[in-house]
Amino acid sequence: MIAENLNVLRNKIDQICEKINRDPKNVKLIAVSKNFGVDEIRSAMQAGQTEFGENRTQELVSKFDSLGNQVIWHFIGHLQKNKVKFAVRTADYIHSVDSLSLAEEIQKHAEKLGKTQKILIQAKTSEEETKSGVTEKEEIKNIANYCIYASNLNLIGLMTIAPLTEDINLIRKSFSYLSKLKEELNAEDYNLKELSMGMTSDYEIAIEEGATMLRIGSAIFGERTYYKE
Ligand SMILES: *Cc1c(COP(=O)(O)O)cnc(C)c1O
Repeated sequence: MIAENLNVLRNKIDQICEKINRDPKNVKLIAVSKNFGVDEIRSAMQAGQTEFGENRTQELVSKFDSLGNQVIWHFIGHLQKNKVKFAVRTADYIHSVDSLSLAEEIQKHAEKLGKTQKILIQAKTSEEETKSGVTEKEEIKNIANYCIYASNLNLIGLMTIAPLTEDINLIRKSFSYLSKLKEELNAEDYNLKELSMGMTSDYEIAIEEGATMLRIGSAIFGERTYYKE
């Protein structure tokens, strides 16, 4: 089932890319395995999937302890300061940097481990109150400026979560805003490569608006049951 879902999804991504003349090689698929187990991850691995996303440190650590660096791990959830050391120990990428103090904490732990931590800044691109992320462009620049000098941080891009709505115009607005933000920052030499945006319900729009990293869970693993909550 997982192998078939992945196959269908990859074909869809290829088709969308072809339609708008984008090279699918520039659209990386991150399989969001939260609430699913190591067995499901192994099935996806057997189907050729190499990158996985998790949104809770405890769950990531437990899966990392089983699978280690056989796969590439992305931490995509809200990160509390007291959990940073777990994320830095296990995640190749942290997508959800939403404050300068969080970046500083990540730098501290990455330095301790002698690691260069790849990070993305999470931007808030909609009015929705429940969404986290940085709102002000100036604040994003503050964090980005810090990353230039922080020896153990490698800022590679921006991440966002679109509002939860049926209104595709609002979703598109959120993604195009992030895309524009990246261009504006790159015009000031920030050299950001990645746009992490697009989930099961909105990845087509995300690809159209320039996503380079899709974070997709349910289309691959099925609907989540929150038995672990
Ligand atoms: C769960 C989650 C996803 C994947 O959601 P699906 O709708 O299952 O594809 C993507 N990004 C973040 C931040 C998530 O928490």
